[in-house]
Amino acid sequence: MNVLVSQCLLGAPCRYDGGSKPCDAVRRLLAQPGVNAIPVCPETDGGLVSPRPPAEQRGARVVLETGEDVTQAFLAGATRAVERAQAAGADLCILKAKSPSCGCGQVYDGSFSGRLVPGDGIAAARIKRKGFPVHTENEVEVVHPSMEHPVAISLGSGLGYLAQ
Ligand code: SF4
Repeated sequence: MNVLVSQCLLGAPCRYDGGSKPCDAVRRLLAQPGVNAIPVCPETDGGLVSPRPPAEQRGARVVLETGEDVTQAFLAGATRAVERAQAAGADLCILKAKSPSCGCGQVYDGSFSGRLVPGDGIAAARIKRKGFPVHTENEVEVVHPSMEHPVAISLGSGLGYLAQ
């Protein structure tokens, strides 16, 4: 199983604040035999450096908190992420929740006030449009957490991916 994954979820310090968001459940999923990780960071691939001011979507545009328009960088990174998913034949995509690139289902509203609205990040939306299944790290649940190598992972309600 090939899993496209936001690389900040694996501990890469690529977030706007120079940090990462490592996720144990995602790491366990990717540790399963037969599971291949394809790490991506659309914002890095689009040419943005870390640290940088936070960014949010405003309609079809993406702006930094400073007001700078970074839409082109986000679009370039999204294109690269789609190319990576297609080249790898991704079976599943686990992308960082709420991000203006990777968010799936909910993103910030562009006011930099912490308010969430329904929507997808720029890269997540493009990946979805190409038909790849996209979930956030919050939907990854270890089914047998007591085992050293859990045998199954459930994703959201009613969805299941068998890792072995
Ligand atoms: Fe993480 Fe995606 Fe943001 Fe990169 S673009 S830091 S992978 S959420």
